[in-house]
Amino acid sequence: MAQVYVSKCTNYQSADVDVAVSYCMNAFVKGIKRGSSVLLKPNILIGRSVSEAVTTNPELVRAVARLLKTKDCKIDLGDSPAFGNVKKALKTCGILDVCEEEGISVVEFDEASEIETVMGHISVYKGLSDYDYIINMPKAKTHALTGFTGAEKNLFGVVCGTKKSKYHLKYSGKYAFSRMIVALAGAVKPSFNIMDCVVGMEGNGPSAGSPRDIGFIAASESAPLLDLFVSDCLGFKYDEVITLDIEHKENDFDVNIHNWTILSNVEPSKLKVKDFKKTGKTKFGWITSVLTKYVSSRPVITAKCIDCKRCVENCPIEAICDGSVRPVIDYKKCIRCYCCSEICPSKAIDVKKTLFGKLFGF
Ligand code: SF4
Ligand code: SF4
Repeated sequence: MAQVYVSKCTNYQSADVDVAVSYCMNAFVKGIKRGSSVLLKPNILIGRSVSEAVTTNPELVRAVARLLKTKDCKIDLGDSPAFGNVKKALKTCGILDVCEEEGISVVEFDEASEIETVMGHISVYKGLSDYDYIINMPKAKTHALTGFTGAEKNLFGVVCGTKKSKYHLKYSGKYAFSRMIVALAGAVKPSFNIMDCVVGMEGNGPSAGSPRDIGFIAASESAPLLDLFVSDCLGFKYDEVITLDIEHKENDFDVNIHNWTILSNVEPSKLKVKDFKKTGKTKFGWITSVLTKYVSSRPVITAKCIDCKRCVENCPIEAICDGSVRPVIDYKKCIRCYCCSEICPSKAIDVKKTLFGKLFGF
């Protein structure tokens, strides 16, 4: 039965991260066959500096790689960021330097093939099946669409480049999209998941929120269990994390965290983060899916816009067009996927509640 491993870690000093990662991963690494091939899948949503807490911290990558090298593993690292080239994004967030220093090869998720999921075929990076192990390395953050982005949502990064837009379009709405994420996570089934919860992101996540000290690293063989544990520490109810709500209702996943084994070297009182700012309430999803256009929070382009046009080029439904000063969003078309907010380099797209949303408490 899967369990959760939690180790205190309040900063990104190499030595401290090494200790925490060893605590969380020793049992897993012990079981790895010497010389295995391993793919690391961090969260490289978009190339941002490490201080912005958008991406998995490079020191976590270093610590995991060092542990795997004790078993002579061949280590690759890959992701498909929301925008642009993976090496450029890795350079900006500091992971490329760690890859070079630790002998990790970077792979581009450029060629796709289909895998079978409970929701039909989904197109993912072709090389996934070549690895003996996949280690999922998410960052604890809020997410405008799914409530929280942790281990399960991080696996959307195995979908190559612009194909992500295709799935946002095909599975529009938070429930349809999250159901697809759950199906994808179930099919990819990473061998192990380790989450960067040293500093996470609260507020307007997953890219325009604020860094928030959390103070630990957590891991599990089970992606939904890891999400349940971390989101619970941050004050989410399970049904505010749409992927967990679906796991519970459709896959009989036990959302009572007290029924699971937690191996921790942290005082329980230190695990709870008070007043963590969420992106907005996600209850009553069936109503919001019907009334999306009236109650769901809207992406709003603010004066911080530098008119780079990334949002225009990447909106999956072409709901954004050029404007006289900055791009303009057609809310009649917009499916509230919030991809534009994720990829904006200037944090210029706020996700704001509508009047109906405020009135009815959505
Ligand atoms: S809103 Fe952001 S992504 Fe869109 S044009 Fe402005 S700066 Fe670029
Ligand atoms: S405008 Fe933004 S939120 Fe709306 S569909 Fe386009 S990318 Fe998604």
